[in-house]
Amino acid sequence: MPEKFVYADNAATTRVSQSVLDAMLPYFGEEYGNPSSLHSKGREASAALGDARARIAKLLGAKESEIYFTASGSEADNWAAKGAAYANRDRGRHIVSTKIEHHAVLNSLKALEREGFEVTLVDVDQGGRVSPEAVANAVREDTVLVSVMTANNEVGTIEPIAEISAAVKQKNRKTLIFTDAVQAAGTLRLDVRELGVDMLSLSGHKLHAPKGVGALYIRNGIRVSNLIDGGGQERSRRGGTENLPYIIGLAKALEDAVAGIDENARVSAMRDRLIDGILDKIPYTRLNGAREQRLPGNVNISFDYIEGESLLLWLDMNGICASTGSACSSASLEASHVLLALGVPVESAHGSLRLSLGRDNTDDDVDYILRVLPGIVERLRAMSPLYEKVNGSKI
Ligand SMILES: *Cc1c(COP(=O)(O)O)cnc(C)c1O
Repeated sequence: MPEKFVYADNAATTRVSQSVLDAMLPYFGEEYGNPSSLHSKGREASAALGDARARIAKLLGAKESEIYFTASGSEADNWAAKGAAYANRDRGRHIVSTKIEHHAVLNSLKALEREGFEVTLVDVDQGGRVSPEAVANAVREDTVLVSVMTANNEVGTIEPIAEISAAVKQKNRKTLIFTDAVQAAGTLRLDVRELGVDMLSLSGHKLHAPKGVGALYIRNGIRVSNLIDGGGQERSRRGGTENLPYIIGLAKALEDAVAGIDENARVSAMRDRLIDGILDKIPYTRLNGAREQRLPGNVNISFDYIEGESLLLWLDMNGICASTGSACSSASLEASHVLLALGVPVESAHGSLRLSLGRDNTDDDVDYILRVLPGIVERLRAMSPLYEKVNGSKI
């Protein structure tokens, strides 16, 4: 048994918080009505659904009629990208996005390409930042959609969405702007009017609500096609009986996140101590992503002469949960598209480690990682013939 357990993979998913669980429980029990039913049980459920929608709308600076619930962040991303493309194809068939989007967006765009849409993916700088000028330059007369994530899930870069929106609208005011805010929503304050976006996606499980619930903000008055046909749910925009317990959980989680925004300072301090500690203690390492404009909990570091998978296994044996941008951890067998887009060499991408901290982490967790990690890296490098060559002698 490892001496300690440290969950440092909050960018992959978070633990459902006690307050969210408490808020959800009645809706698995006594409050089991279908919001579409006309009787009292249904009306109670419908009122709770409306209340959750109104609370989420308020937190995002949106109107209640602009929030739609989905079964995941991926569904919300698919809906925004495909729905906006389909509904506006008479205006044009060109879409602009970035090389570092989540696969829910990138693969939606690939699907659209197969249907005759043209996609331009703009480059990012070494820190993962998307330039508003580069996006605006890529926008044309026939550009129907721009999709740029609010913050990146692998390297934590926070994108200048308000500036991007302004630059895009100046170039073509008809172009719709979508931002995947799934990774940002747990920590950044989000206001759709300030961001200037037409659509924004969220996911419950990245902010201490359950997996399998998401939301899409769709600004009133824009054209977006439906993807899921069914009954009249979600104002006839998305069929399927609403997952009321999870939706209640999502509303509570977003409220908690906004109320706990002060926690960011503590989490950022842990992040910086972890980054500095690793770079100080371990040679041949580099930070991936930017120092500034970085999500509070994101640490992404490459260790030369090491495979990310081996590192993960050893960390796991020591009770530390993390993730890597290396190949074998992904189904595609390719190194992280995000790290490659930042210009990280393939070998370094294979030796990358993402530690993502959250509000459940403590200073003890950071101390423990800093105590355990150098020894693991040293042991793995001792087995690497390449490292032996570079370092001259065995360790
Ligand atoms: C996790 C994630 C998604 C997908 O959300 P799911 O609810 O897991 O489908 C989309 N975009 C980003 C940036 C994410 O981090």
